[in-house]
Amino acid sequence: MQNTIKPLSGQVALVTGGSRGIGKQIAKDLAELGADIAINYNNSKQAALLVKNEITNNNGKAEIYQCNVGNNSAVNEMMNTIQKQMGNINILINNAGISRERTVRNMSLDEWEEVINTNLNSVFYCSQSVIPQMIENKKGTIINIASLLGQIGNIGLANYSASKGGVLAFTRGLALELARYNITVNSICPGWIKTDMTDRIPEQLKEGILSSIPLKKFGEPEDISEMVSYLILKGSYITGTQIHINGGLYM
Ligand code: NAP
Repeated sequence: MQNTIKPLSGQVALVTGGSRGIGKQIAKDLAELGADIAINYNNSKQAALLVKNEITNNNGKAEIYQCNVGNNSAVNEMMNTIQKQMGNINILINNAGISRERTVRNMSLDEWEEVINTNLNSVFYCSQSVIPQMIENKKGTIINIASLLGQIGNIGLANYSASKGGVLAFTRGLALELARYNITVNSICPGWIKTDMTDRIPEQLKEGILSSIPLKKFGEPEDISEMVSYLILKGSYITGTQIHINGGLYM
């Protein structure tokens, strides 16, 4: 069989939360482009293994790494293991995220802290840990999967909005710090995308959301993943920005 060189051959990409939803699609698409994929997951080992198998059955290379990315020492340990097993990470996709719906009035400290740790602190932990490797490589790409809800408010999701708004602000600061090393840092702000996260929304509420979206449809994980691929392959002059992929819901 002929061996074709793919555009990301020889590059290592870490996708946090690569076991399901948007992260799973990103992992598969980057593997298709030739990158070796480190698939991070927290609880869903079987789902992560399925993604790995799909990639390896397609002649790609992937490994799975269990780690709660909201825990700094666990992140550092995972990064060391990946570096030993796969080499320096060139591409970091900070995708892992959760939502815990509750009005601020009724929100427990746990519901606040779990969301901030998983969605925001993780982005700091993973980025900080990977920076020395990218500087050594003299290039790198960090893409943060933020959210439309980091740009607008939503009742019952103030913790989530705060975490994603923090990611957007962090992206700008980090992009400025790393530009001199040829490392780009960007955020993508998905609107409502069909995954387990949005499957949980009650049908009646979903109808209301749908009618508010100008393009009158939910997005697909592919809509986000294709932008990730574009930024990696073609976005060498794009840094510090936030890209809206929301069906026109926020402009
Ligand atoms: P999802 O289907 O619920 O998948 C979430 C992924 O994150 C899973 O792979 C999960 O792994 C992982 N994860 C959660 N907590 C983790 C932790 N502490 N450590 C490591 N991995 C963890 O969600 P999704 O819809 O694909 O969302 C992906 C990203 O897009 C999130 O950051 C989310 O906020 C953002 N987003 C989604 C939408 C949407 O409409 N779906 C809209 C805007 C932004 P385990 O199953 O192993 O725990």
